[in-house]
Amino acid sequence: MCGIVGYLGSGDAYPVLIEGLKQLEYRGYDSAGVALVGSDGRLNVYKEKGKVADLENYTADKDKSGHLGIAHTRWATHGEPCAKNAHPHVSSSGRFAMVHNGIIENYAVIRENLEKKGYEFKSSTDTEVLVQLIDYIASRDNADTVIALQSALREVVGAYAIALVDKEHPDCLYAARKSSPLVIGMKDTDFYLASDVNPIAAYTDKVVYLEDGEIAYMHYGDKLRIVNLSNAECCHEVMTVPKNLGKAGKDGFGHYMLKEIYEQPDCIRDCMRGRVNPEARTVTLSAVHDHRDRLLSADRFIIVACGTSWHAGLIGKQLFEDLCQIPTEVAYASEFRYCNPVIRSTDVVIAISQSGETADTLAAIELARSRGAFVYGICNAVGASIPRATDTGSYIHVGPEIGVASTKAFTGQVTVLAMIALDLAKEKHTIDDERYAAMIEELAVIPDKMKEVLKSDGKIASLSKIFTYARNFIYLGRGYSYPVALEGALKLKEISYIHAEGYPAAEMKHGPIALIDEEMPVVIIAPKNALYGKILSNVQEIKARKGRVIAIVTEGDDVISRIADTCMEIPRTMECFDPLLSTIPLQLLAYHIAVCKGKDVDRPRNLAKSVTVE
Ligand code: GLU
Repeated sequence: MCGIVGYLGSGDAYPVLIEGLKQLEYRGYDSAGVALVGSDGRLNVYKEKGKVADLENYTADKDKSGHLGIAHTRWATHGEPCAKNAHPHVSSSGRFAMVHNGIIENYAVIRENLEKKGYEFKSSTDTEVLVQLIDYIASRDNADTVIALQSALREVVGAYAIALVDKEHPDCLYAARKSSPLVIGMKDTDFYLASDVNPIAAYTDKVVYLEDGEIAYMHYGDKLRIVNLSNAECCHEVMTVPKNLGKAGKDGFGHYMLKEIYEQPDCIRDCMRGRVNPEARTVTLSAVHDHRDRLLSADRFIIVACGTSWHAGLIGKQLFEDLCQIPTEVAYASEFRYCNPVIRSTDVVIAISQSGETADTLAAIELARSRGAFVYGICNAVGASIPRATDTGSYIHVGPEIGVASTKAFTGQVTVLAMIALDLAKEKHTIDDERYAAMIEELAVIPDKMKEVLKSDGKIASLSKIFTYARNFIYLGRGYSYPVALEGALKLKEISYIHAEGYPAAEMKHGPIALIDEEMPVVIIAPKNALYGKILSNVQEIKARKGRVIAIVTEGDDVISRIADTCMEIPRTMECFDPLLSTIPLQLLAYHIAVCKGKDVDRPRNLAKSVTVE
């Protein structure tokens, strides 16, 4: 959460910072700010409530000169979103300015101590405490900035990625990280700093990923220096950023979310490229083959994830149990890390995260590794913290996802899970040759079938207008369609702010059926598969209570389609691949309802894309 950008170089800092913030806005957007340092040590700080565009307007007539600067787009944890609480925060002496992503957990004690020493606080954030502490230590010990930073960071408990400037050193930029991401880009004498690689990729492909417990010291004209909190030098490999990264536009779509929904056929093709071979009817994932024995000898898989990735994990469980006969559990990473779970060295933990930075998932990985489990990551962002913290993994390769509500990452995750399950099932001999070949053939045509589903966009857009009245929705599914129901409900909640609940269709009788009346829209995911007869009964139960049924059915369905109030068709596929198709109408439904209600689809209130705080 929150986006950090920094720049030190020969050019003007402001344009780099503001462009960088725009690319990071998916991480938080309740307020934004920038600090610029002139070569004479003049420090200008501008902050504004709202989005980066509001900051840009606010700074239009301000002095924006300076070759050094830091900037921030905030996702508030401590203190309401307002200009006063926006970053950068400046220390009382006016010497230091700092931006921060994360939470300083022991901020209250430190603040109290500093207040006793005469420090005055302007904001209610945890962040201001850290910059004041750095200031206090620097003046108390007459310490060099890096030394003061190290001492301060040794005192704080919590998570942080920070960027710091010091008026007394207008040619230096400082950064540090613990549990929140930071990337440094280098080009000639210029340094770029950002929460992810996207704002940097426009300027250079040479980057260094800062690791936990490290401080980066960038001095104009010198090489990057990285030390740890005990001042020992740290060596880093300079990585080359893949060429396809960089600015992602909306390509004529009204919102990133819609663009990303439409990208799914191509993304899923990219995800399978070089892995699924429909001619040879094979699927091969290098991570599975490199660690074949470890994966095959696993007693159990434990999938850890949050949000949409957790829903993909529920589908993964069914795939691993159905195809590979591997007992699989799915845990919310945030619960897993604190419930003292039984983890054995024979377990394989699969961590799923689009951003590769989800704080709870990272912590779950650390716990799993400390107990000797083997960890497999499934991520989208190349080079992020999770891919670097796991033993092995597979990228979903769906390209940057900017819309805060995840769409293509979900189908990418399900595709990767299906490929892993098929590859392992073949190796384990838990699938016969015929089924294996048929499944690969089917997987290969899923992108074409996704294109078919997208053709119903117009119909869904018209339908959405009818349902803007609703204050509640129920989503029901069985088997592979149950996680789809959860995902559909989550999409609607996230962007339209309509309360929605996903439920296993048969469980409805044990409670939620009490909610059904003529006002209640019920979305039922009912593709033609082994559970069709069962879900048909559930549809009847809802209609008997006058609920309004919106059904997702397989094309040619002539039973549920007659009973339901409205139907959206998807092409026929295998049961385990139904989620790859049936999710799309639900994404579109949520999107159009939110648009009809005038909501900010790409930047829904209170949400951020990359959840880097607990
Ligand atoms: N905890 C800090 C605040 O509330 C930083 C939040 C963030 O990561 O944006 O200001």
